[in-house]
Amino acid sequence: MGLVVQKFGGTSVATAERIKAAARKAIRALQAGNQVLVVVSARGDTTDDLIEMAREITDNPPAREMDMLLSTGEQISIALLAMAIQSMGAMAISYTGAQVGIVTDSSHTKARIRSIHSAKMRQSLDEGKIVIVAGFQGTDDEGNITTLGRGGSDTTAVALAAVLKQEGGPDKGVQCEIYTDVDGIYTTDPRLVPEARKMEAISYDEMLELASVGAGVMHSRSIEFAKKFDVPLMVRSSFSDAEGTWIIPEQSWMTQNPVCGAAIIKDEARIAVEDVPDTPGISHRIFTAIAAQAIVVDMIAQNPSTKGRASIGFTVPAGDLKKTLALLDPIAREMGARVEHDGQVSKVSLVGAGMRVHTGVAERMFAALSREKINLRMITTGDIKISVLVDKQDGLRALRLVHHAFDLDKRAVTVPPKIIPDQNPNPLSCEKKATLLTQRLANMEGIMVSDIEHQTDQGRVAIYGLPDAPGFCSQVFEAVAAAGIVVDMIVQNHSRGFADLSFSVPLSELERAKSVTNSLMAKIAPDCRVESENGLATIHVIGVGMRSHTGVASAVFGALARNSINILMINNSEIRLSVVVDRAKVQEAGRCLREEFGLVSPA
Ligand code: ADP
Ligand code: ASP
Ligand code: MG
Repeated sequence: MGLVVQKFGGTSVATAERIKAAARKAIRALQAGNQVLVVVSARGDTTDDLIEMAREITDNPPAREMDMLLSTGEQISIALLAMAIQSMGAMAISYTGAQVGIVTDSSHTKARIRSIHSAKMRQSLDEGKIVIVAGFQGTDDEGNITTLGRGGSDTTAVALAAVLKQEGGPDKGVQCEIYTDVDGIYTTDPRLVPEARKMEAISYDEMLELASVGAGVMHSRSIEFAKKFDVPLMVRSSFSDAEGTWIIPEQSWMTQNPVCGAAIIKDEARIAVEDVPDTPGISHRIFTAIAAQAIVVDMIAQNPSTKGRASIGFTVPAGDLKKTLALLDPIAREMGARVEHDGQVSKVSLVGAGMRVHTGVAERMFAALSREKINLRMITTGDIKISVLVDKQDGLRALRLVHHAFDLDKRAVTVPPKIIPDQNPNPLSCEKKATLLTQRLANMEGIMVSDIEHQTDQGRVAIYGLPDAPGFCSQVFEAVAAAGIVVDMIVQNHSRGFADLSFSVPLSELERAKSVTNSLMAKIAPDCRVESENGLATIHVIGVGMRSHTGVASAVFGALARNSINILMINNSEIRLSVVVDRAKVQEAGRCLREEFGLVSPA
């Protein structure tokens, strides 16, 4: 016997007819000999309507009461679905998050799951009932109702599948199906770019990055669970029986193309803390203060400093701008730094595991944007993603342009005839795996840093005072690519009306990269200063949820600060946080970070 977890999103339970259709899907899975657990969202626009109701009362509703209100949406859906199933002659029982034992922390409206007690679910499943659970909600230790953040029902579904699987699921394994209003994951949101194409499969890492850079089709934390606990997912349409898109561990065919998808976050805000002293502990102070308010810092770009003062640029969701500025004000004043901001920017990103093997992705992306005179306000790269910040008015146009530039509308990939996810892809020994999983289950959403790596074979070229106008970055990377030099990390930050740009290249190519850049600058921007640096190393902190767990960056910066290690450059993504430090300090930095995250040092 297998266990099937099905999740139905808001549109999929919006009308009585659709609830009945969802009921039929659940019954079909039961009749096929499975145990069935269904997670549902609030119907249609219910959650938005509830938020509006609160706004009609007050601009500043207390978070606890907001959760009390929001959780009612899902409660309506579970009761109606249970009625529908029972009226069709099958047994079903509905549970709220609290009733089913989903325990979270107390950060109302963005709570994280701590543990799940599965006894009740199991008992009902064993009685042959279809168990229906309200998505998006849980309860804290004091019994207060909490919610997991918008889109959180995906996370409920995957977390339940993970627990049931790891606690000893049925012999045929656990299948998790996410039913929604699209028939799979597309190369970008098909509502924004109609020429987007459906994918057959996508890797956990790619989906994690895509979700965290704006692909609202999946809640990014649900993918974190899926990856941590080896749960393959299928995203598919609730309106048909068509095959959807698998979200699974990476397979070799997935790197055929450099890019698999694109996404946009329309409402971002850029903050620059300028003229900060370039000494250990500064990033730590800034990001710890922001993390303490559970604000997710999105892009972080810190470039090399000039005259002992650095500028740290980062973005936060536009809705968190006011709060962030208020908390930065006293810190900046104390450091003698200035804070600048821009609340009208959007972030456009490209993601693809193929970036690890294909070169020239940044150049192709920047060239497409520069041809259309779109200015890049900030650039950050990760292992498998690259993001640019553009003016909000250019956002959608930029998304379409980059989608087109990588031929995502003509997606040509040779896919294996049948994609069958490995139910047990983790090659760890049973005993080791069991211990690891028990630890992970005890703190389900705990930070998971899996490795610390360093790289000492790279140098960095920095350009100071690049004009803040379209096309300059694109020309730099065109020239560097034309010289056959591979670029790894790119950071562009803004300061005083100029763009500072730096990028890393193999050490052996550093002098050539500098001279190519110098010749170009002499032609297009003679007032720029170009410098190269060969005494650096990059430390990569690798795991999942590296960006959305607000504590990771501050833990990294804190550990380095306590050991008086200065951070020279920062770059982050959902699966990797990279910091550049002095090469002489790299061993020490690796050691203290391993200690911080409880990792064993390599022999
Ligand atoms: P549900 O209520 O079922 O959870 P959501 O609205 O959260 O549904 O997610 C489905 C929507 O996600 C789609 O209607 C689509 O507009 C949007 N979307 C964003 N990015 C993508 C993408 N890359 N592929 C498919 N859909 C996407
Ligand atoms: N109902 C919640 C929302 O609209 C959770 C979800 O649908 O996943 O965000
Ligand atoms: Mg959703």
